Amino acid sequence: MPRTTLTASFVLLGTAVAPPAIMIAHHFTIDVEEYFQVSAFESRVARCDWESFESRVVPQVHLLLELLARHESRATCFVLGWLAERQRDLIHTIARAGHEIASHGWDHARVTHQTPPQFRDSIRRSKSLLEEISGVPVVGFRAPSFSIVPGWEWALDFLLEEGYRYDSSLFPVRRPGYGYPGGLPHPYWIERPAGRLAEIPPTTLQLGGLRLPAAGGAYFRLLPYGLVRTALRQCERREVPGTFYIHPWEIDPGQPRLDVSWLVRARHYGGLRRSLPRLERLLTDFRFKPIRETVAALPSAQVTRQGMIVFSESAA
Ligand SMILES: [Zn+2]
Repeated sequence: MPRTTLTASFVLLGTAVAPPAIMIAHHFTIDVEEYFQVSAFESRVARCDWESFESRVVPQVHLLLELLARHESRATCFVLGWLAERQRDLIHTIARAGHEIASHGWDHARVTHQTPPQFRDSIRRSKSLLEEISGVPVVGFRAPSFSIVPGWEWALDFLLEEGYRYDSSLFPVRRPGYGYPGGLPHPYWIERPAGRLAEIPPTTLQLGGLRLPAAGGAYFRLLPYGLVRTALRQCERREVPGTFYIHPWEIDPGQPRLDVSWLVRARHYGGLRRSLPRLERLLTDFRFKPIRETVAALPSAQVTRQGMIVFSESAA
């Protein structure tokens, strides 16, 4: 099999985000999508059937916005273009409340399931629509299911070419179906042929020599709250912001149950009633700000070569 060797340079930015430990503001991110759009349901729910499902996203997002307002924290919302087209008022409301609007692609197709032209169309259309609705430049992207994995780095070049300034898709763990084990567990710049892109990875927990996912989602609902809290405290000790994520359907115990395997059911429906009380706790324990503010506060003059990793990855 032919192998293409690409070279990327990672430049550690930890020193550029170093206010006193107690002042660290982390990133609270919401992947704004409907309960029936998650990747785990792909084989059960065809995209052409999405219109036939009851929409439940609006009240859940309002609940999250109310929670954030009460705790004086602001979020980054990665929104699907498909959803923005149908819920323009919701996008207005999120933006007016001071939260960042970013792109989650158009129709939740994983990058690994798209051709390069399809991916470009998805990030271009969603960015353009979200900017038109919010009136604010969209500079951030998160791939559905963190699906920028080794071999798909070309997607980072496309993001730069389409005007994005940061990505939040490289989960620095090795998991079935996703993960970017060579990535770093804190914000960093990625040098690509198309330029320099900031990477804001989901938070992980360092346990001895093990790096475990601890950024939110099912890990937040199904495992003890202390997992996420410890991971964010580890970030504070390293003087870097952590990145937490949640979906509107994760605070919706009343969502219709789809006929899926026991494993998917456990992962998707488990702990839904725990989410809101835990979010109250999280927002009490930590402060949050939009990712774009972290990226804007990372002037290149402060970028050092300390911690640079030069590595080669092979495209299969
Ligand atoms: Zn998603």
